[in-house]
Amino acid sequence: MEKVVLCEACQKNAMDVVEDTDEPKQPYQLCQPCHKRLLNNSLRPIEWYNLAVLHSPKQFLLHDDFYGEDGQAFQSEDDVIVTKEDKAPTLQDVRQDLASLINFSITRWFLEDDVIDALKQHDQQRTLDSVQSRFDETQHIEVKSRMLEIVADVLGTSAAGWVRELVNQADEEFLYPLSWAMTHCAKGNRPVLVEQCSPKILHTDKSEVENTLNDYLQKDGVPRVKTNVSTILNNKEDIFE
Ligand SMILES: [Zn+2]
Repeated sequence: MEKVVLCEACQKNAMDVVEDTDEPKQPYQLCQPCHKRLLNNSLRPIEWYNLAVLHSPKQFLLHDDFYGEDGQAFQSEDDVIVTKEDKAPTLQDVRQDLASLINFSITRWFLEDDVIDALKQHDQQRTLDSVQSRFDETQHIEVKSRMLEIVADVLGTSAAGWVRELVNQADEEFLYPLSWAMTHCAKGNRPVLVEQCSPKILHTDKSEVENTLNDYLQKDGVPRVKTNVSTILNNKEDIFE
């Protein structure tokens, strides 16, 4: 029997439309009604949420010009009728369940302390396993970056081995989140980590690091990123050489 692929937004109807995202390898897969609502900026909160889990809320057609963090549509021309079951989950709803909590973390614009604290309540090894499989499953840079932020802010040194592997494979797009993860995971065992990673982190010329990070800052200059980038630059000698 042929397996039916469900619409990524409603997760009820069969998928029958493919719409491009910024990532060619991972387009939206939708049913006709959800596709229409996506294009009209009128997804229901749970539909927005389900798509944001897979594609990140920074994706075209999902971002914060159109929707709030609870998935409320701002710019819809039609009224979006929201029943109880159309609501997106809150942190309170998901905090006990690790997989749901990681989903939730992806839908946030920033990884904030309340989500970090909730993640810290879970077993570190299980969290690391889940974060790694999410990282491998997705093609979206934003989702991968969020997994690295969890490594840095929640897991720290317990993820050092994995970060070390990534450093050897990753490309420049991950310079910021990987550097941040390195800065954190290296705490406590910095000599070992730095010895093993350097000087080949991302094969980046050290003089290029500052430019790349500053470009990232231009793109995403929220206070948290600013502090992180300056921490990385202050530790540049340790991390990159
Ligand atoms: Zn649908």
